[in-house]
Amino acid sequence: MSKELVIISGKGGAGKTTLTASLACVLKDKVIVDADADAANMYLLLKPQVKHKELFKGNPKAYIDVDKCIKCDECRRLCRFDAIHINENGEYYVDELKCDSCELCKIACPVGAIEMKDVYSGEWYESETPYGIMVHAKLYPGAENSGNLVTMVKHRAKLIAEEKGIEYILVDGSPGIGCPVISTISGAYFVIAVAEPTPAGIHDLKRVKELCDSFKVKSGVVINKYDLNMQKTKEIGDFAEKEGMPVLGRIPFDTCVNRAITDLEMPYNRCEKVKKSVDYIFRNIMESL
Ligand code: SF4
Ligand code: SF4
Repeated sequence: MSKELVIISGKGGAGKTTLTASLACVLKDKVIVDADADAANMYLLLKPQVKHKELFKGNPKAYIDVDKCIKCDECRRLCRFDAIHINENGEYYVDELKCDSCELCKIACPVGAIEMKDVYSGEWYESETPYGIMVHAKLYPGAENSGNLVTMVKHRAKLIAEEKGIEYILVDGSPGIGCPVISTISGAYFVIAVAEPTPAGIHDLKRVKELCDSFKVKSGVVINKYDLNMQKTKEIGDFAEKEGMPVLGRIPFDTCVNRAITDLEMPYNRCEKVKKSVDYIFRNIMESL
C-alpha cells in the first residue's frame, strides 16, 4: 500500500512548493501530486507532459427554463443565496456563481421550470515529468469544490501507485487550514509542515499541528529561510520539541532560489545550499516514517 507524504504550510509563499519539487528530485519511487488546485504552480518547475486529461464536475447548479416559467417569483423569494435574478427582458435566471446547489427552488417551483444541471468546475491531468508521474489539476476561475478536486487527484495517484507498485505519493498541499487542506491531510501517512521564522509562521504552525493531530497523522516541521530570524527559528524549534514534532531540517535563505524559480529551474538542481539541506531533510523524513 502506498504512503502519502504531504507537504503543507499555514500560508502561501512559505516555500512549500519549492520543498515538494526538491523532494521530487530526491525521492525516486513516487507519484507526484499537486493538490494546490486553487493556485497550482508546481507544473512550472516540473514541466509535465500531459498524457491524459479529464473534466471535473462540480455541484449541479439550478437552471430555469424560461418557456415554462410563469414568473410567480417563488424561487427568487426563497433563495437564501440571492442567486435568482430577473434580466432586462423580465426573464428569471440563476447566477451560477452564487447558487449553492441546495435545490430548494427546484422543489418549490409550481410548474417544474427549474432543473439542476451539471457544471464543470475544473480539469485534472495525468502527466509525465522528468521526475516521475504527476497528477495535477486546475480549478476554473471562480469555481468551488477544490476539496473534492483534491480528493479526486489523490485517489487517482493512489490507483496509479497501486497499479505500478510505487511506494510513495508526494503531495504538494494547499496552504492554510481550509477545506482543500483537510482533503489533503485526510489519508496522509506523514505531514511535513513548512514554517518561516516570523510571528505569523509560529501561529500558522500551531494551527497545522492541531489539524494533523485531529486527523491522527504524524507530522514534522521544516524551517525555511531559518537564518533570517534566529530567535523565531528557536521559538519554532521549542514549540516543535514541546509538541513532539521532529524538526526535519532547516533551509537557509538563498537568493539563488528566486533566480532558479524565475528561470523555471529546480532550485535543488541549481542551488548548492538548498540541495545540501534537502538531502538532510530527506534522510530525516525517511527515518521518521
Ligand atoms: S439551488 Fe438553492 S442556491 Fe441555487 S438558485 Fe436554487 S435556491 Fe438558490
Ligand atoms: S418558481 Fe418557477 S415559475 Fe416561479 S418564478 Fe421561479 S422558475 Fe418561474
